[in-house]
Amino acid sequence: MLSEFSLIERFFERPTSALKSPEPALRGDRPKATLGIGDDCALLAPRRGQQLAISTDMLVEGRHFFPDVPPYALGHKALAVNLSDLAAMGAEPRAFTLALGLPRADEAWLESFSQGLFDIAQRFDCELIGGDTTSAPAVNICITVFGDVPPARALRRDAARPGDDIWVSGVLGNARAGLGIKLGEWSAASPDDERRLVRALELPEPRVALGMALRGVAHAALDLSDGLAGDLLHILERSKMQASVNIDDVPRSPEVAALQQELQQQYMLAGGDDYELCFTAPVGERSKIERIGQRLDVLLTRIGTIEGPAPYGHAPDHAPAIGWRDASGKAVSLTLQGFDHFHAD
Ligand code: ADP
Ligand code: MG
Repeated sequence: MLSEFSLIERFFERPTSALKSPEPALRGDRPKATLGIGDDCALLAPRRGQQLAISTDMLVEGRHFFPDVPPYALGHKALAVNLSDLAAMGAEPRAFTLALGLPRADEAWLESFSQGLFDIAQRFDCELIGGDTTSAPAVNICITVFGDVPPARALRRDAARPGDDIWVSGVLGNARAGLGIKLGEWSAASPDDERRLVRALELPEPRVALGMALRGVAHAALDLSDGLAGDLLHILERSKMQASVNIDDVPRSPEVAALQQELQQQYMLAGGDDYELCFTAPVGERSKIERIGQRLDVLLTRIGTIEGPAPYGHAPDHAPAIGWRDASGKAVSLTLQGFDHFHAD
């Protein structure tokens, strides 16, 4: 039986400084933690001229992931969703802590989990500096990430301005389509298609380089964890704005585009778990943003406009903050279920 300390030492105390392949945007002279795992606290020196961006996300077995999810994917996703929050703020990853609740110390499980975790940590040059480990009735993974962002350049949700374009990265709906496959809601044309969609669900790629490139270019940004329809509202609420979105412009994969329309909209707009970025930017930045997309090889699509201030002091139950339109400009009324993935209630 592994003791708590040998478990930490064996699976989580690894130097992230032995970097194999940090992302190109993250190479450079970056300070490490002054003191990592093993003492009462980690010590992290503030970086001159930067603010710390901090975010926490918790993943609970049975609620956020299936008990049988591959542990490698779980380790990846636990950090990926946190890095995605840094990306959405325009912050550069620096370090993270890991609080882990485990029903048992299963060595094979821990081996794969920590491999998934450290593979993505190394790619994004994000160092594990501490945490806590306890037994628990179900697997519970809570990560806090720390990143750097220059003051006044963070991509805040309250910064959308009238006339801004609304952009999204990547395609939307693949993760929810992958969940649909696992739930037996539908099946794709080929096993390859199915693998690709389940991969989008289990191994999301945080848009860190994109978030950093959008500093000083985008106004507001967030990452799409719960679906565009709900997440865009967060920007609108914070910025006290309303928007129009062209549904036909929302980027989708061929697999999702082949679905019957209602399911397609449900997956793309209310599905969640895509971890793409949604951001607003002035019209004058269009060509710069297109160049960023080309340089980073990320699809960037304009899907709508910030129309102006919300009329009613802006509550979501008043006038709809998002006017959905089709390509002809006609208003579309959506029948999205308030949908919380992984548990339908
Ligand atoms: P404390 O008694 O202060 O709670 P612990 O005995 O829990 O400290 O942890 C000892 C050291 O191991 C600390 O530096 C802590 O940050 C680190 N640690 C504990 N669990 C983890 C984990 N899951 N991942 C990384 N570091 C951990
Ligand atoms: Mg402890």
